[in-house]
Amino acid sequence: MAGKRPNVAIVGGGIGGLFAANALRAQGLKVDIYEQAPALGEVGAGVYLTPNSVRHLNRVGLGPQVEKFGALVGTQSHYFHQDGTPIAPVQVTDSSGWNATYGMHRADLVEILAGALPQEIVHTGHRCTGFAQDAETARVSFANGATVAADIVIGADGIHSELRPYVFPPSNPVFHGGIAYRSVVPHRLIPDWPNKAWLMWLGKGKHFLTFPVRHGELVNYVGFVPADQQMKESWSAPGDPDVLRAEFAGWDPRIGELLSHVTQTFRWALYDREPLPVWTKGRLTLLGDAAHPMLPHLGQGANQSIEDGMALATILALCDVSTASAALNVYERLRRERVAAVQRGARENGMRYDSVYADLARRDAEITAHAEFRKRLYDHDVVPEAKAAAMSFA
Ligand code: FAD
Repeated sequence: MAGKRPNVAIVGGGIGGLFAANALRAQGLKVDIYEQAPALGEVGAGVYLTPNSVRHLNRVGLGPQVEKFGALVGTQSHYFHQDGTPIAPVQVTDSSGWNATYGMHRADLVEILAGALPQEIVHTGHRCTGFAQDAETARVSFANGATVAADIVIGADGIHSELRPYVFPPSNPVFHGGIAYRSVVPHRLIPDWPNKAWLMWLGKGKHFLTFPVRHGELVNYVGFVPADQQMKESWSAPGDPDVLRAEFAGWDPRIGELLSHVTQTFRWALYDREPLPVWTKGRLTLLGDAAHPMLPHLGQGANQSIEDGMALATILALCDVSTASAALNVYERLRRERVAAVQRGARENGMRYDSVYADLARRDAEITAHAEFRKRLYDHDVVPEAKAAAMSFA
């Protein structure tokens, strides 16, 4: 690296964009984030962090915060049939036995990521509406009339990304016929609930998940059910707790007890996209859901966006403005196949969870064997391979 280091504009202040800003700054790069919302924030629900991303949160110095606000998920984690009979333990460590699997409240994670950034680099109230680039620079324009120039632009603006069509022709997300009800219940209302375990119950066309967040003070639940027509169109919306209770009536009585305390819930329609063949054009690249929205059935959307940010920061640390576009192509090549495999894996796991098998014993055997897939997923460290890949231009 000989010349001037590139400055970076990130569009989107979600988990992916905020982590990328932390990772780029840790490499000494100048970064600004532009977020459409008037303030950073997240819905009241949980996110599951796994060792493959926690090692990067540790690397940028956020490990103590994750430990403080997260809830370590332990080896009591289990899959059950809908009536509560056990199926198999859940793999929560990497293959070395390192347990760095945390339930986090999404708002806590956003606060940790944003709190580590200087306030002046986070520009809220900036909805990106346009993009242009030439050989020298990239320009992003916003609905508020502002325009900014940068050497590199990262589109971290989620599944409906405004920047994505500047990289690849527009396409529609794929709807998978299901919705997820999500929220949290205070643990003090259900004091016997295991607050160090990830628990999942599997039934026909539905499944129910819980894990602890905020140091075990809250129990995060997700109820996956088939979607109605209205939900397909509205994407995400408040849900009716009574409808949620009716969906899981007759399941393990522990679920009924938890749901009896639900006063507010949110519904998400479950969409992903086919893996994109291209993520990068010139000075613009995509990250997180903008590049690879996936179903939540491996709990990897946020984890993969963190891996993306770490890979990008490792590679961009070794480029200058003259090699910036080459560096973005290296990032894309490094990430595309790994993430496509996770996108496909999430679809396959969704079929296991929704019991779309004539032979449930075979499904149960696959659930048991799935521990090996999770170990490989969690063992992955993107940093050494990103450093090696960057040698092509550095
Ligand atoms: P987003 O979080 O969508 O952030 C995009 C940001 O860009 C937003 O702040 C948005 O306001 C902003 N933005 C959008 N358009 C513009 C614009 N034009 N201009 C400026 N800003 C803009 N993942 C896990 O790893 N573990 C889990 O346990 C997990 N559970 C899930 C459960 C469900 C039911 C669902 C639906 C998802 C789950 N995920 C999970 C996935 C995870 O939430 C996402 O993959 C992850 O948050 C992606 O982050 P992102 O930053 O790429 O996108």
